[in-house]
Amino acid sequence: MRRLENKVAIVTGGARGIGEGIVRRFVEEGARVVIADLLEAEGRALAAELGDVTAFETLNVTSRADWDRVIAATEARFGKVDCLVNNAGILIFKALDDLTEEEMRRIIEVNLLGTMIGTQAIVPAIERAGGGTIINMSSADGISAANGLSPYCASKFGVRGFSQSVALELGPRGIRVNTIHPGGIYTPLANQAGVTREMFDMGFKIYPAQRAGDPADIGAAAAFLASDDARYCIGTELSVDGGLNA
Ligand code: NAD
Repeated sequence: MRRLENKVAIVTGGARGIGEGIVRRFVEEGARVVIADLLEAEGRALAAELGDVTAFETLNVTSRADWDRVIAATEARFGKVDCLVNNAGILIFKALDDLTEEEMRRIIEVNLLGTMIGTQAIVPAIERAGGGTIINMSSADGISAANGLSPYCASKFGVRGFSQSVALELGPRGIRVNTIHPGGIYTPLANQAGVTREMFDMGFKIYPAQRAGDPADIGAAAAFLASDDARYCIGTELSVDGGLNA
């Protein structure tokens, strides 16, 4: 199915993990995609592999100047922007007592403020394109709390609340805002402490799917929300978690 023919998307954190899964699925469905990430080598390699329907731009999601440059580059290269996926994110697994103030700030700045700055920056461009969609990556941890992840949970509950509010504001202006709430997806983020896929899967045996998810599972959900099949989805919170929060 090529539901994203003629659509142009920016995917933050698109160089690896879930973002890469989204980029690959969007390209399969006919979109042109800008991979926007801090990881230049990985992002450029992915763009080279996928060909000239993709491009790489360096982006720090916390910098408005970076956003303005990436949006201008996308319009120059592909003519417009229909879709933004605010996927970039970081996680620090630590008890509250052990967290530094700098770590707490960093998680909120990248995960929450980065999503807010990017959403604000992209609106005029999507309006120039005649409407479109913004997909914000929250988490199963943005729906119910996880132990040892307090700033991360705060950031992901925050992404959810921010998205609901701007969905109300932007819906009447032709911009659909929705969130995805992945469960455990095996990526470099999940693999920070050298956890193998097998070990990671073990942690999810007690949930209905009995395994962790893959970036492709989130790519499929994002492709649906970005497509016209989701034209009546506004403020939708799409859980893709193998039943973790059921
Ligand atoms: P990952 O670490 O594999 O990839 C994250 C990407 O974001 C990296 O390419 C990284 O360079 C980029 N990034 C980080 N900070 C950035 C910044 N300031 N500016 C631009 N890019 C930046 O992580 P992932 O598992 O693919 O996670 C992607 C998103 O999905 C995150 O928002 C994460 O919170 C969310 N999520 C992941 C899981 C999971 O189990 N993996 C579950 C729920 C939600």
